[in-house]
Parts: sequence; C-alpha cells; structure tokens
Amino acid sequence: MSRKRPDVDPQDDLDVTPPKTYAAGLPAVAHAMEYALAQAGPKRTALTLLSLNQAEGIDCPGCAWPDPKHRHKNEYCENGAKHVTDEATTRRVTREFFAAHSVAELGAASDMWLNHQGRLTEPMVKRPGATHYEPIGWDDALGLVADELNGLASPDEAMFYTSGRLNNEAAFLLQLFARAYGTNNLPDCSNMCHESSGSGLGETLGVGKGSVSLDDIHESDLVFVVGQNPGTNHPRMLSALEETKRNGGRVIAVNPLPEAGLIRFKNPQTPRGVVGKGTVIADLFLKIRPGGDLALFQMLNRLLLEAEDAAPGTVLDHDFIATHTVGYDDFAAHTRTVTWEHVLAATGLTREEIEAVHREVLGARKVIVCWAMGLTQHRHGVPTIREIVSFLLLRGNLGRPGAGVCPVRGHSNVQGDRTMGIWERVPDSFLDALAAEFDFAPPRAHGYDSVAGVRAMRDGKASVFVGVAGNFVRAMSDSDVTEAALRGCRLTVQISTKLNRSHTVCGETALILPTLGRSDRDVQATGEQFVTVEDSMSEVHQSRGRLEPASPDLLSEVAIIGRLARRTLGEGGAIPWEDFEADYALVRDRIARVVPGFADFNARVAVPGGFRLPNPVNEGRFPTPSGKAVFTCNELDMITAPKGHLVLQSLRSHDQWNTIPYAMNDRYRGIHDARRIVMVNPDDLAELGIADRDPVDIVSVWTDGTERRAEGFRAVAYPAARGSAAAYYPETNVLVPLDSVAEISNTPTSKGVIVRLEPVAARG
Ligand code: SF4
Repeated sequence: MSRKRPDVDPQDDLDVTPPKTYAAGLPAVAHAMEYALAQAGPKRTALTLLSLNQAEGIDCPGCAWPDPKHRHKNEYCENGAKHVTDEATTRRVTREFFAAHSVAELGAASDMWLNHQGRLTEPMVKRPGATHYEPIGWDDALGLVADELNGLASPDEAMFYTSGRLNNEAAFLLQLFARAYGTNNLPDCSNMCHESSGSGLGETLGVGKGSVSLDDIHESDLVFVVGQNPGTNHPRMLSALEETKRNGGRVIAVNPLPEAGLIRFKNPQTPRGVVGKGTVIADLFLKIRPGGDLALFQMLNRLLLEAEDAAPGTVLDHDFIATHTVGYDDFAAHTRTVTWEHVLAATGLTREEIEAVHREVLGARKVIVCWAMGLTQHRHGVPTIREIVSFLLLRGNLGRPGAGVCPVRGHSNVQGDRTMGIWERVPDSFLDALAAEFDFAPPRAHGYDSVAGVRAMRDGKASVFVGVAGNFVRAMSDSDVTEAALRGCRLTVQISTKLNRSHTVCGETALILPTLGRSDRDVQATGEQFVTVEDSMSEVHQSRGRLEPASPDLLSEVAIIGRLARRTLGEGGAIPWEDFEADYALVRDRIARVVPGFADFNARVAVPGGFRLPNPVNEGRFPTPSGKAVFTCNELDMITAPKGHLVLQSLRSHDQWNTIPYAMNDRYRGIHDARRIVMVNPDDLAELGIADRDPVDIVSVWTDGTERRAEGFRAVAYPAARGSAAAYYPETNVLVPLDSVAEISNTPTSKGVIVRLEPVAARG
C-alpha cells in the first residue's frame, strides 16, 4: 500500500467470481498469513499469534466470541489473525507524516489507506485555524482537555464515547471520571449495534445479556442463527456449530443472503477441514426478506399454539409457563390473530419452508436462538427480540442446558464495557454503589446515547467530544450530519492506536492521543499489567500484551484516563487515580465492590480462563418487576418497499473489521477490487431494467419525502432475497438519517433502508 497518495480513494476495479460455498479451510490460513506477514513481519506475527486467545495471552480484539475450554495452540480465525497483526504492524505514523499531509488531504484519503499507515506514535494537536496536526507533549495535551472541560457551562456539554475495544479496567475508570466530573454522557458503540438486544432481553427476562455458554451451543438440539454472518463476523462460532452438528444437533440459518459460513465450514484445525469436504452448517436455510424475522417468529409461535391445541399437553411446557412467566393469555390470544398472508408477505418465504422449521422445533427438546445486527438494526428490532423470547418461553427453553438466548456481539469487550457502567442510562443501583465506594454524588439524569449525542453536538448543546477507541464518524449513521456535528465542537479528542477517519473530522481544536494496543506489553510503576475483558457469553478473563509498544511515547488507556481525571478534577480527591495507574489490581478491587458478580475479582481472574458471571436466568430467576419472564404482544411490522424499490441492508465485507476495510475484496461473496457495489437478486435487477455491473446511485427514500444519495456504485447480480439489496458500510451510512432509529433502543436502522437504484446515466 502506497504511502504517497492520500488524496485518492482506491480505484474500484470490480471483478466478480461465484460466491464461496464454504468458509475457512486452507485459503483462510493463507490469506491470514499473507496479511499478517505483510503487516507485522515474521517475528511479531509469531509472537502475536502464538499467544492469541491463550489462557495467559492476548485476548483477540477481533470480536466477542468466547474461547473454548480446551484450546488449540492456534486458537484464532482468519479475521482474528488479521486484526491482531494489523495492530502489531511495524508501520508507524510519525510527526513527519503529519507534517507532510494536511488534515484536508487525510480527509480525502480512504479508510483503508489511513489504516495502512500504521500505529500512531505521539500525541498530536490541530490548533484552531491550522491545516496540519503538530506534536504536543502529554502534559500539555491533557491540560488542554482539562481546561476545556472545566471551562464548559455544564458537564453535560461534554461527551465520552467508547467503542468495545476498551478493556474493563479502563472502562470502569472512564465512567468513574465522567460521573465524578458530572455527566452521564457515555455513549458507546453498543448504541449502534446490540442496544435492541439489551432492551428486548432486559424487558422480558430482566437481564440484557445472552444466557447461553459454549457448552450449551455444543449440546443443543437446534440452534437458530438469525440475521448473522458468523463466517465473517465471528468465525470461531463455526467451530462451535460444527460441534453441535457432531453431537447430532441441527442448525437453521435465517438471513437475506446465503453466506458461505452458513453453508459449510472447513475447520483448518482438523484433517477433515483441511483435506475433506468440511461440515455442513445449516440444515435449513431461510432466505428471508430484511426485517421479516418478527413475522417468522410470530408464525412459529402460532404454529406451536396450534400444535398444542391438536395434542394438548404435548407441545408447550405448561409447568414452566405457569411457574416462571406472566402474560401468556394475552400473548396467546394476540398470536392467534397472526395470518399467513401477512407472514408470507413480510418474510418472502413459502408456507412449506416455515412449516419445515416448525417440524424441526417440535423435534427439538433444547433450542437456542442466536442473532446479530440483522435483527437489532431494524425499527422493530426490540419487538423481534421480544418475540424470540416468547418463542423460547413456550417450550421452557430458558434457564436449562442446551437452550436459551444468544445475542452475538461484535466488538471484543462491548458487553464488558456496559457491565463496567459505560451506559448513559445506568441503573440507580449502580450509581448508588459508585457513590458509596468513592464518596461523591454521581449525576442521576440520563446522558446522551450516540444518536442523542450527535443531535446535541449538531444543536450546539455539546461542544467537547472525547472518543476512547473506535471510529465514531464512520460507525454512526447519517455521515454528513455526524461529521458536521463533530466539526462544530470546540474540542475533539480521539484516543486511538491507528489513524482513522475520525481524526480527520476535527473540532476547532483536535487532539490525537495514541495508546497501547491489546498486543502491547503494559508496564506501569508496580510492574507489568494485564487487563480483563468479558465476552459475549459473560466469561471474564485476562488479556496480556506480548509486544514491545509501538512507541515509547504511548500511554495505556488506564493511564490516559487517570491522568486526565487528575488534571480535570484536581489532585488529592477521594479517588486514587495515580495508584490505579500504577497497579490495575487496585482498579479491579474497586470493581469488585461496585459491580455485581465481581466479588473477589483479582483472585478469580487469576485462574487460567477466568470466570463466568452469574446470569439469574440460568438459575430460574427473572429479575423483572414481576419476578417472572414476560410474554409480550408485538404488532406485526413489515418493511414494505414501493414498486421499483428495494430494502437495503448495510453489511461488512469479509476483508473488513468494523469500519476498517483491510482490502478491497469480499472474498466469500466473490467481490474483488471494489467496495462501492450493491448486491441485488438477478430477477429484481431484470425487473428494474438494470444489468449486472451497471453503474448506479443508491437513493434512499424516507417517509418525510426526503431522499439521500450514495453515488458511484455498481449493481451486482447476487442470490439475495427477492426485494432486498446489500451494500457495504460505512459507505452507505450516508443513506440513513439520524432520526431513523429502532423503537425503544434508538439504534440506527441500517438494515431496513428503502432505496431505489438510479442508473448513473439518468443522473444527468
Ligand atoms: S472468532 Fe472473533 S475473537 Fe475469535 S479469533 Fe476470530 S475474530 Fe478473534
């Protein structure tokens, strides 16, 4: 990758090959190694990969999938290997680099080019009116932030954003600092991904997290994988599903696209995966319309009620329903009104397909439903998750082995950050514990989530943005509005490991504060430190970096937050920030006293593999107001595209990690050397009069009559569900208005965008 051309995007040079019919295998190993060696060289690659996901090694920052009990010496996937060696890169972004490239030049560069420049090495500042970043010392940088924070009319004019890369210790200190400073403005990337899961599960089960373990997945009779592409986004989930299959379980995949990982898995850790045909993952695949999942589960629930009518006492778990749930009668009456006509229209499936799923359900004693953003980023994401809970409650599929709910999180510690109090609406019980432990009065008013935060910056109600990890402007919907909101701030601060687009969207003053990565050794005054994370299945364990830091001028996130707190709040308060920086075990001692489930934290996390947080659902307890799990009545909501329109979902390519493309390819889908493509069923393209590879603009159409345009795409004929389209994010974030959000969770509706494809010739 050239370092000389920041002013141009990589040229799209589209080549299309047939989509892959299996995931992983030797090609995945080869691709991972090719990328790793190009980034980090052989020594750093070996040091990094051999300790990745080992009991005392580096927790993979690639996603939040848990580690198995019995670990292979190569316990990672293609994406994990790419991600951690991308961080371990030998390339460096220096002060000379910033002197050579103006902020405007960097802003014109692609996300991929920015990422490929390497690790940040020292604090940089862009001063008001300046065209370039320039070096600044740590003391001056933190003093500048502290002065701005202390100069605000109200602490609520500042916001502290985090992505799920942040470890537990730094997350706990960040929320402590924000609240000691006086605000609950703690938006996070969870607002943009699994907030609907937390809302739906919290309301119905009393716990906003998944209930299952890896063992549950292995021993389940039937696992649904809904709105999720594990082959790309959580690849080691395929090993777990392979074991499900080996144990005689069945898998049903529900998705608008037939993803390679849902079809077949060639496990590179097994001879069968290397030289054989691998394992068929999905026994049934439902190519559903985007947003049709609510209707699907409503019909599955109606069919269960009818099966019970036909053979009373044989289908539903009446003891479980009577003992552990409320709302069954209303739910049953409502569910009986669901019609085939509506369900078939909403899902695009046939009656036979849905009845085949129903038969699988009747034959399964233990059922798990897994899902990801294919469900949560719809306007009815929360009702869909409530309906799934009802589906599981009907047959007692919660709180027993092999059964339960499994929202699969993307960012490695996104669940842990929320557990640590990174939440704009954290419960009063958490604030009470914080107040008692640290002897201050935390603010009680709810803060801004990500959407509300952008509105606040746009409207001049917030003027200091501190982003700890992540790439906020590329992760958020409504890219233009989000960028303008950041540019309107007095100060933007990005605490980062690598360069990204958010560094080029500057407030009046902008700071880049470079930090240690997960793979870097972290040595503080009392010696080498480790940090902890919580995965998607509530397992808490250590992560310990192995590499020499990318630069001697890096500070850990714990150190940056602690020093910023001292500069802002003053020395000598009741919170021993300096001690926390010197010894992270002291932070964990405080976490143990504040956060439920963390008693004896230091001792329990010292055990190889760590410990699992308790989930009351698995003890038959549902901490809802009634003390019982809740059946809900959800109105059918169907995303209907007018004639000539499609329902667009945004998604990642296989060669991409969150907002950052590693290459211009999407290997499993057969897309090469291009990202501005839109995948559409060939029959839909024919109806629209658009030929495969035709240049098009994607135009989103909203109920208020407004339109938004993403220019310069090419249509690609692809076996997607009829009536749907799929294109990559962040390129398509511009199509989703800030106010288009899921009900209750406020998550941007990136999976249900009504669009038309406009041939470029017609643009005029
Ligand atoms: S599945 Fe996720 S956590 Fe595991 S190695 Fe792959 S990217 Fe990393």
